[in-house]
Amino acid sequence: MPTASPSTETASAEETEALAAGLAGTLAPGDVVLVSGDLGAGKTTFVRGAARALGVRVPVTSPTFTIARRYEDGRVPVSHLDLFRLAEGLEDEEPELLDDELAPDRVAFVEWPEVAGGGLPGLHVAARVHLEHLGGDRRRVTIETA
Ligand code: ADP
Ligand code: MG
Repeated sequence: MPTASPSTETASAEETEALAAGLAGTLAPGDVVLVSGDLGAGKTTFVRGAARALGVRVPVTSPTFTIARRYEDGRVPVSHLDLFRLAEGLEDEEPELLDDELAPDRVAFVEWPEVAGGGLPGLHVAARVHLEHLGGDRRRVTIETA
């Protein structure tokens, strides 16, 4: 298994996307990547870079108002979840929705994973990514692989 990576600083969205592309190269179907960080830290930007590297060509945008988007045009089916809207608690939502997105034949990226608390059991978390603002366009990106 790969070892935990130290933090890296990026100076642009493109640099963050390039880091994400590097991680994407290690991902296999069934892998889940948890992406945390404040609003605007670059979570969706990171997922965009990873999805592109997995062959997704259609625009990758924030799924905040739909909870999940699916991309089927890459080398592996990709799900992109944003749990921000589920802050009231996953129990009230349809759990089978997440089962479909977090399926063994897909690679899934989950923004705001902390909202789920213990509500995402049995997942194969391949990496935990954390993004932090460092001022202007600088971000600290920490990629912890399993
Ligand atoms: P989040 O999903 O965490 O709310 P987004 O990825 O939607 O954040 O937005 C991050 C914004 O910050 C984008 O407009 C992006 O272009 C910009 N940005 C500037 N510098 C960086 C960087 N180093 N890494 C990622 N995004 C950056
Ligand atoms: Mg986002």
